Amino acid sequence: MRFPDEMEPHAAVRSTYPPILTDIEAWQGNRKMSEFLIQELTQLLAQAESITFLTGAGMSTESGIPDFRSSSGIYARGAGEEVFSLERFHAEPTYFYTHARDLMVAISNAKPNAGHLAIASLEHHFGKQVDIVTQNIDTLHQEAGSTRVHPVHGTVETCSCTRCHYRISSDQIWQSVLDGDIPPRHPGCGGIFKPDITFFGEALPLEPLARSQRAIAGADLLVVAGTSLVVYPAAGLPSIRSFKSRLAVINRTKTHLDREAALVLRGRAAHVLSRAIDVL
Ligand code: NAD
Repeated sequence: MRFPDEMEPHAAVRSTYPPILTDIEAWQGNRKMSEFLIQELTQLLAQAESITFLTGAGMSTESGIPDFRSSSGIYARGAGEEVFSLERFHAEPTYFYTHARDLMVAISNAKPNAGHLAIASLEHHFGKQVDIVTQNIDTLHQEAGSTRVHPVHGTVETCSCTRCHYRISSDQIWQSVLDGDIPPRHPGCGGIFKPDITFFGEALPLEPLARSQRAIAGADLLVVAGTSLVVYPAAGLPSIRSFKSRLAVINRTKTHLDREAALVLRGRAAHVLSRAIDVL
């Protein structure tokens, strides 16, 4: 078996009950431990019949889409939460279209990475019931072939007119934005188009939210991957998991759920997931 060279082996394992939190620093630089931890994840995946993933922007950074809060993320590049504020959008839509342009271009050029494909293979090759509750707006899980994806923050696929609610494919909108036509307007009523994604200050779409709640409550295993877990209410969804379910966290940095998890893997989600599923 190949060692997971690129995994950062800061990790904690709690596979027994009552859970034991291991000293995560103790495993730093220990490759055997990395291998063992990947196998722990493989084991959790093998034992579960129904698996729900809660994913965030870190799931797609390896596809070339920046996240918000990493040191190389969108916020570090000078664009803050304000860009995705509903209030600001209504007051000054040009601000959103100017600052979100690069993210939208990155999303339109991105392809699913090894992590998205590994999750899809759990459903198609290993016969697991897999649900994906994603905060991502990029549709890469869907493109990878996963069929039960619940985008709790909407997706970039469509835009709707803020005046008459006419819905249109985003391709047309972003092409005109790239041509300098901002903010894009509905020719029929003159209203401004807004992407069908959840802005700060906006309610989550009800149907995906209800499906997400059912998927998390019914899962044997919840895997949280690539999210800082600071954007609510999505970040609170893991709290509705069943007391019998196991929890694994895969993230490059600490999250508030680490202390509740059976397994915490600090590494790149695509790498960790593809390795774990390689040895399934
Ligand atoms: P976030 O930026 O707050 O957090 C991302 C987390 O992922 C960080 O903790 C970071 O350490 C970790 N991370 C980064 N790269 C990783 C990798 N390769 N492997 C494992 N972990 C990695 O993002 P969030 O928690 O998803 O919440 C913020 C909002 O960002 C969400 O609502 C989402 O809609 C939006 N967003 C989505 C996209 C996308 O669709 N790809 C991109 C940017 C932002």
